[in-house]
Amino acid sequence: MNNTKLKSILYKSNLTKDEILYLLSLTEEEEIAQLYNHADEIRKKYCGDDVHLRGIIEFSNYCDQDCLYCGLRRSNKKLERYRMTKDEIISTAGMITQAGLKTVILQSGEDHFYSKSLVSDIIQSIKEKFDPAITLSIGERGRDEYDEWKKAGADRYLLKHETANEHLYSTYHQQEKLKSRLAHIKYLKKIGFQTGSGNIIGLPGQTIEDIADDILLCKEMDCDMCSFSPFIPSNDSPLRKIPPANIDLTLKTIAVARIVLNDVHIPATTALSTLIDGGKELGLKVGANVIMPNFTPLPYRENYQIYKNKKTYDPLEYLDELKVMLVRIGRKVGKEKGHSLKLMLNQ
Ligand code: SAH
Repeated sequence: MNNTKLKSILYKSNLTKDEILYLLSLTEEEEIAQLYNHADEIRKKYCGDDVHLRGIIEFSNYCDQDCLYCGLRRSNKKLERYRMTKDEIISTAGMITQAGLKTVILQSGEDHFYSKSLVSDIIQSIKEKFDPAITLSIGERGRDEYDEWKKAGADRYLLKHETANEHLYSTYHQQEKLKSRLAHIKYLKKIGFQTGSGNIIGLPGQTIEDIADDILLCKEMDCDMCSFSPFIPSNDSPLRKIPPANIDLTLKTIAVARIVLNDVHIPATTALSTLIDGGKELGLKVGANVIMPNFTPLPYRENYQIYKNKKTYDPLEYLDELKVMLVRIGRKVGKEKGHSLKLMLNQ
């Protein structure tokens, strides 16, 4: 098959929204394969064969927010809530660095129990003892808190825009405004955090145009990391009856995002591997270059139920399997911290 339109789009440097929509709408197997191959070439050009591993600690499942799609939402009274102590968090960070990983992601619901000073203490202790890159993924907080945590040594902040459609954003976030979310991301970037954004694919009411806008918004925001992750229903949320995201659309989104965004880190997410066996490998083959192994200790991890059937494993066994998989697909574990590709270009 010789689709010249597809070829000409793939080799353009600035894709229009219509061209992005064309790629996301491909249905012919051969054409989709061409899209994936091209995304993989772009990944190789900008990221090389290194796959960066970020060890994640889900340290609290308390949340002040009530996002309709999320199992951690404050209205979910069925979830058993937990908080890890400062010492537990620090020793888990030690396990991550001991396993050779160079980034620790601290993730939680929006939980103000962890005050400005407590989060600072945790960041400082982890940095002093183990010196990894630290990513915070703890929701929307005050500007004074962001300032303090940057000073304490945090390197990166993940705060997904979730959906670029303002109406959908307000529907799913109790009338909150997308504009306000974006203002947080812009502020984080301004004070020197490497920032991560991204979407959820497959929210009810979302169109393919919205997904094209998600990719374009990541470009406009000039984020360093972008996560395109499939929706999976949580049994204890209002969206419990909604089917999970389409896997092909998720993979196409990752591929198109790589082609449009070039030098960003894109994870093959746990949600993707929950949706399909071998999901991480599939993601890595169509443009992703990051994996976030979960180090949350048992029994806490069983209660970090953002969505149902979240994949769970022993992190050290998982790392062994992962390394074998990476060799099989011609990739390797990144030995460095895997900072923003944009910073590296500017150095
Ligand atoms: N509270 C923090 C981080 C924890 S939630 C924050 O709001 O940033 C981490 C991510 O889980 C969210 O950004 C969201 O994109 C994702 N998520 C939540 N519910 C989900 C679901 N049902 N399916 C897929 N991803 C979901």
